[in-house]
Amino acid sequence: PAAGDDLTPLINSRLSKKIQSLLLLVAQKADKENVKVFAVGGFIRDLLLNIKNHDLDLVVEPAAIPFAEELNKMLGGRLTSHEKFGTASIVLPEGIHIDLVTSRQEFYARPAALPEVEQSSLKNDLFRRDFTINTLACSLNSPGFGKLIDLFNGIGDLEKGLIRVLYNLSFVEDPLRVLRAIRFEQRFGFRLEETTLSLMENAAQTRVLEKVSKERLHDELVLALQEEKAPEILIRYFTLNIAPMIFPGIRLSDALQERLFAAREMCYWANRNWPDTEVVPGNLYLAALLLEAPFQEARHICRRLRLPQKQREPILAAVEAVPRLKEKLLANALKPSELYRLFSGQPVETLLLLQADSKQSRIWESTALYWEKLRHIQPHISGHDLRELGFKPGPGFQEVLSHIRAARLNGEVKNREEELAMAKKMLAARERNNA
Ligand code: ATP
Repeated sequence: PAAGDDLTPLINSRLSKKIQSLLLLVAQKADKENVKVFAVGGFIRDLLLNIKNHDLDLVVEPAAIPFAEELNKMLGGRLTSHEKFGTASIVLPEGIHIDLVTSRQEFYARPAALPEVEQSSLKNDLFRRDFTINTLACSLNSPGFGKLIDLFNGIGDLEKGLIRVLYNLSFVEDPLRVLRAIRFEQRFGFRLEETTLSLMENAAQTRVLEKVSKERLHDELVLALQEEKAPEILIRYFTLNIAPMIFPGIRLSDALQERLFAAREMCYWANRNWPDTEVVPGNLYLAALLLEAPFQEARHICRRLRLPQKQREPILAAVEAVPRLKEKLLANALKPSELYRLFSGQPVETLLLLQADSKQSRIWESTALYWEKLRHIQPHISGHDLRELGFKPGPGFQEVLSHIRAARLNGEVKNREEELAMAKKMLAARERNNA
């Protein structure tokens, strides 16, 4: 496609019926309210790349908030507006997000050249964006619904597969774009355009990323870790020398690279084969990285990255436990009861990190055995049965039951009768000793 082309055929063939009718509704409303509305950014980029995108970005002229309010009367979504920025967002129950921004007529736009003026306010808005491939727009007003607008040669870069900033100070103005560039580069398999790459290297050298707030950094990292190519993205942080500003003290080794790729495999494998288990790949990637640092540093990096406690805990538990578990597992062949004791209470992240960290078949077999079988095994008998046998409840019960579980894990008792017999023997011996 080229600037001026009609995107209607693509809209009709590539977008879901829901999004198609949403676009039509926005268009009708825009004409009725007498405002100009453009669909812009990632939505148009992904439409052209034929990738699903449920986030609709709209540029509205002259004002986004009143239009969002009108629009939402028909949509009945959850509307949030920010008066200060002239922006609004609507969340629809189907998981569709609509973001609306105001494109303001700039004072220097000459009212004499009307069509020019019309474009210049959109152009102003698009010029503030990160990369040319994100500056594509599509008009939603009629006449001209579906008309592709390409003011910064985004189409050319989309076709060549290039990530290109719009101006030289782009990374200085917002250093977070360095990370966004890498995310898009890896997601689409694109390349960083030559000047963009050298501006990025310059940004890395001058450590501009340190100026980004920890919260924005955290949010971007969350997005990066959700990508299918997250391991490649993280590795790229290192090769472009940006990693020291995000994960200080961690170096890229061959072992780390292998562990990151293995972590992805392990997550896919676990989510396929362990239906009752849900693993968040991003947590495993972070744990894989942090395994390179001394534990105190790992903890410090987690704080720096503003990871919430609920996320930090399983990650740090895995980082702490894996070297110890690996050593024990590789030193001796362990009985099932010993495996149970070793792994009991460990989150699944720990087991998967162990697998990602070592190709030894013994590690693979023991972790799978524990997660698939051993952790579910309970004795057939309970404290209730012990009381029925005539023993007095006390701390001894728990000990006896643990012992029986261990015996069951090792195949030393096979059924309820054998467990009862074993319990009876143990408790009787205890009573004799106490007497
Ligand atoms: P994704 O598919 O990851 O959602 P997206 O391009 O839709 O990608 P968003 O983060 O939702 O990305 O941002 C929406 C639009 O806002 C982008 O297309 C981009 O033009 C613009 N944008 C977002 N962050 C920045 C930034 N830091 N600097 C400049 N423009 C940005």
